[in-house]
Amino acid sequence: MDQPATSRNIPLPIQREVRQRCGFGCVICGMPLYEYEHMEEWAEVHRHVAAEITLLCDHHHREKTNGLLPKEAVRAANADPYNLREGASKPYSLHFSGTEATVEIGGNSFTCQDGGHGTEMIPLLIDNTPLVGIILSDGHFLLNVVIFDECNIPVLHIRNNQLVYSTDPWDIQLVGTTLTLREKAGKILIEFVFLPPNKVRVVRGRFLRNGVEVLVRPENILVTNNSTFISGCRAHNCHGGLIIGHTDKPIGGFMAIRGVSRYLGNRKEALRFEKQCLNSQ
Ligand SMILES: [Zn+2]
Repeated sequence: MDQPATSRNIPLPIQREVRQRCGFGCVICGMPLYEYEHMEEWAEVHRHVAAEITLLCDHHHREKTNGLLPKEAVRAANADPYNLREGASKPYSLHFSGTEATVEIGGNSFTCQDGGHGTEMIPLLIDNTPLVGIILSDGHFLLNVVIFDECNIPVLHIRNNQLVYSTDPWDIQLVGTTLTLREKAGKILIEFVFLPPNKVRVVRGRFLRNGVEVLVRPENILVTNNSTFISGCRAHNCHGGLIIGHTDKPIGGFMAIRGVSRYLGNRKEALRFEKQCLNSQ
């Protein structure tokens, strides 16, 4: 690492180390959109060392470049990043709107139109907790998401379009329109693609809640607890999508699974079944 680097491109493992150390946001303001900033002038050091690199949003990066934000202030913020101080990322507003909504999960599509009086669509609910939900009201498109980790602890929220995440995970990145949360190297917990004004896609990942595991692949959904394979489904103006476990009030969904074995599902069997389903398509 102390070898002189020939490229200004920071190696990916170093980028991730910097992201985690900085709480996945600008060290000054916590903004989840940022650039990598060498605190030592690159022209002088010609090296990529994680401890010498920090995260700055466009605004603070420009202030630093223009000389309005002193190096000392950046170093101080780097030693005590905003998001780590707060314990969560600074809320970031997604720019959704419209009278129609599309949510795609593992190639399955859930669509709805604003029918007035606050139209609600819940593509995925486990045990009374909507993991993915949309509200359409007066031209507003409000996305609500909660992602739990393996310990059943929420690590990412989108509340009425406001994205907030914990600083605990191994990696979180918002690049372009893609938000990726990784549990460890090569292990994606969830990958969302935001397609404003009115579309959201879940490309891959695992929705976890109370011992239920819903795997999302680019072309299908698999509930590993009971080998439920869902592919190529379309639901329009359906209040509920995949509804698992109990609900306080009845929700009409295109698929409702009431009783499901928790933690003890035969995951191996489910993965084998998924392979068979894919082969027979
Ligand atoms: Zn900033």
